Amino acid sequence: MLLFRVVTPAARVWLDHAWARTPSATDTSPAGVHDSFMDVEGSDYPVTVAAMVTDLPSLDAAVSNCRACPRLVQWREETASVKRAAFRDWTYWARPVPGYGPGDARIAIVGLAPAAHGGNRTGRVFTGDRSGDWLYAALHRIGLANQPTSVAIGDGLQLTDTRIFAAVRCAPPGNKPTPEERDTCAPWLAQELALLPNLRVIVVLGQFGWNALWPVLAAMSYVIPRPRPRFGHGAQVEIEHPDQPTVDVLGCYHVSQQNTFTGVLTEAMLDSVLRHARELARGTDASPGGA
Ligand code: SF4
Repeated sequence: MLLFRVVTPAARVWLDHAWARTPSATDTSPAGVHDSFMDVEGSDYPVTVAAMVTDLPSLDAAVSNCRACPRLVQWREETASVKRAAFRDWTYWARPVPGYGPGDARIAIVGLAPAAHGGNRTGRVFTGDRSGDWLYAALHRIGLANQPTSVAIGDGLQLTDTRIFAAVRCAPPGNKPTPEERDTCAPWLAQELALLPNLRVIVVLGQFGWNALWPVLAAMSYVIPRPRPRFGHGAQVEIEHPDQPTVDVLGCYHVSQQNTFTGVLTEAMLDSVLRHARELARGTDASPGGA
């Protein structure tokens, strides 16, 4: 299994040692982690730093400082400079967008990448765009969010048992990251999953996130079915790990306007997958084959 197109020496270290925990790493403070890697640059930054952060605040801080993908750095900053007319008074975030949600979450929701005028503007995942409107409204309907809207940091949004993040953390042109950018960003995805000790369910929004996830899970020593499971709305794959609880991976059509405006994804379809994730996480799944 090759997680990176170009396996740099630092990437090889990550593959070999990403899951090792040393006392010194465990004791490292968020500020200390950041200071320690100020001199790490380029494509080695994610693979080097992600392997060393040991808590979500450190991960969030480290991700926010990543500049490993030149094309995406250029795009996120250009978008923030040009802006959309409706947001001309905003100072865009224009950085990688970290995950959002409590660290004890049993449910992870994995998206594609931030929207240029959504997360890239507000600094919070799925916040300030129509996709987020759909997702958070659904989470609110089934009791995993305290409010149906997500417009800006500080708007009071709180998630229950759920953490949301993207496979690629920077807004890409045309919402299409390259395979190389996906692989460069993979260490952040892997470490975010590893730092959720209660993880039971991963809901993947769309084919891109689905494809990005499996090499990461394999590198984390989960046993991945062969052939690799195909993406589909409602797909469910149970994966085992030698030392950790079983995790269910659920497929869900992405909450993009392309899907929601055309009826490819309806509210009922989205609610069904998220409700199933909630029941799996709670161990109350009553569907055939469920607990
Ligand atoms: S996409 Fe990921 S790896 Fe690339 S610059 Fe953004 S955070 Fe870093």
